[in-house]
Amino acid sequence: MAGALSSASVPAVGMSPSGVPPYSGYAPTQQQQQSHENGVPPYSGYAFDLDGTIYLGEELIDGAGGVIETLRSNGARVVFVTNKPLETSAEYATKLSKLGIPTVPADVISAIDALVLYLTEHHPRGRILAVSEPVLVAELRRAGFEVTEDPTVTDVVVVSFDRTFDYGKLTRAYRAVGAGAVIVATNPDPYCPTPDGGLPDCAAMLAAIEACTGTQAEAIVGKPSIYMARAFLDRLGVPASKAVMVGDRLLTDVAMGLEAGMASILVMSGATTAQVLADSNVSPTYVLASVRGLIHSP
Ligand SMILES: [Mg+2]
Repeated sequence: MAGALSSASVPAVGMSPSGVPPYSGYAPTQQQQQSHENGVPPYSGYAFDLDGTIYLGEELIDGAGGVIETLRSNGARVVFVTNKPLETSAEYATKLSKLGIPTVPADVISAIDALVLYLTEHHPRGRILAVSEPVLVAELRRAGFEVTEDPTVTDVVVVSFDRTFDYGKLTRAYRAVGAGAVIVATNPDPYCPTPDGGLPDCAAMLAAIEACTGTQAEAIVGKPSIYMARAFLDRLGVPASKAVMVGDRLLTDVAMGLEAGMASILVMSGATTAQVLADSNVSPTYVLASVRGLIHSP
């Protein structure tokens, strides 16, 4: 599988200064840790990460379309899971469909879905001040939440990957937390890889707000949070024990799948280098060069 390894050294994600809640210590046995491509059994449900797993930027990973088609024709349920809260599920579904993987919006779960699940359970009538792009505000309103710009009436400051972040937003968040609001963040990623050098992601906005308020987020709901796992397991409609999470990052995709009681497959087509894998104490159930390895199984 060495041919698919990235030569770029990419640090592991999930190590934001604010701290991802630590995992409770999954310790796989040697038997569970496989590293060949011919031993992956079929599962009833597959949850695929997108960036680095199904596509890289605007290009499908070689063979990904055929893999999804084969899994579906074998009767498996397939959903797609992304931490990126910059687009709606419908937009991700359109992108996948255009790339040759016909997908309906309900089969794409983003950190926005995990956020709505979390807020519905913990702050069902909370008034939200959103440090986010407009798409997140629209999705929160669609889910029935009141979104405000007034720090004095805010119950929850929602923090997200926000390319429109500015001092005004930081000040409103600071004042809302000072007046008693809690902080909830969409995802723990410090940066988002892009072909032109990457973008600061949610953890950067969150760090600014935590630094000035001295208050930590009460939850970070995207991968590797259990809220994300619950959101997509619900859509998969199969028990965790019959499902597998497939992704390119150990501390988000793989750790979340294992924590949720699923098998986890690391693909080496994205952010994780062989060295990062060797140094990590998160052990995937299987490691594949890419998703193509899923259908070479006997
Ligand atoms: Mg990825």
